[in-house]
Amino acid sequence: MQQLIGHDAILRELRGLALGDDPPHALLFAGPEGTGRVLLAREYARLLNCERAAPPPAGAAFAGFEPPPVDPEELPCGECRSCRLIAEGSHPDVIVMSPGDTLCRPRGGESSHAKHPDSRDIRICQVRGAIELAARYPFEARYRLVIIEPADRLAREASHAILKTLEEPPPHTFFALVTAAPEVLLETIISRCRRIDVRPVPRSEVEEGLLARGIESGLAARAAAAARGRPGRAIAFAENPDDMARRERMLEKCTRVAGEGLKGRFDYAEGLADRYRSQRASVLEELDAWEALWEQELLAAARDGSADTARLAGTLDALRAVAACREHLLANVIARAAIELMLLSFPRRTLEAAPEDVTAAHA
Ligand SMILES: [Zn+2]
Ligand SMILES: [Zn+2]
Repeated sequence: MQQLIGHDAILRELRGLALGDDPPHALLFAGPEGTGRVLLAREYARLLNCERAAPPPAGAAFAGFEPPPVDPEELPCGECRSCRLIAEGSHPDVIVMSPGDTLCRPRGGESSHAKHPDSRDIRICQVRGAIELAARYPFEARYRLVIIEPADRLAREASHAILKTLEEPPPHTFFALVTAAPEVLLETIISRCRRIDVRPVPRSEVEEGLLARGIESGLAARAAAAARGRPGRAIAFAENPDDMARRERMLEKCTRVAGEGLKGRFDYAEGLADRYRSQRASVLEELDAWEALWEQELLAAARDGSADTARLAGTLDALRAVAACREHLLANVIARAAIELMLLSFPRRTLEAAPEDVTAAHA
């Protein structure tokens, strides 16, 4: 099982919520992919269900049985059956609903409902399945948790259907919505959720986490730097240095394009838009690389104590343009238009390709 790296403050918050009198039934984990959002949602499920946190069985106190006091700081215990199953991803009451066939429940009498393992969105039939499930008692947990990931892929009618359940949640079922693009969600859904912003983790914490997993120090340092505060990605890089090399090549390419004129940029935009048809994830990754470069430029300007306000403003515009482009792509705006707009908003710059500790910008 993958363990969480960083996020001590969020863990404290989740502990307070889960062990409090009225734990929220819907949480929204908003933050970039790879930061540990789903692991945090699972921690919430563990806190709600940890057997050590359970009230003593009825009559125990009467029989003179005093349960040992539990220090909330030590929860979840990580050792009870419930904690272990949730961590392994095999607890029957902690369910991840993603695009595909998870929980698909065709409407009664809908005999021709085709399977959709490769669908890009979370469909109404899946939400129907989740709602049916939510109405039943959990198999063995005190509280069931349905994790919706990524929540920004809920199709329109699916969003409206889940909203009703979030408004009147069944007592034994909780929901965790996970997304990198909370702006895409219905305002009414956001207002029903307790929002937890999951930010990138400082590089030193990521590096420590990798070392604690027995990863060799040189590789740990390189992977932590390349992952930009995303422990999940750092672990993947350390396990698969080829991916890390690809990422480094991507940064070099972006650096080159930043120095080019209009023609070069449009050619690049066209190539990227073409690729978006078949390789969405890799294009989104390339946007991350752009973001990394501009953040680095921002840090460099701050370090130089630059009084060059035009340089600062141009860099901030570039960062906003990357965020807008990502949002447009996730909202299915025509890819080429979104990408060209982004490239036009970039100032022409000579950038440094060397990876820096860009996570400091988020600390
Ligand atoms: Zn436990
Ligand atoms: Zn279906």
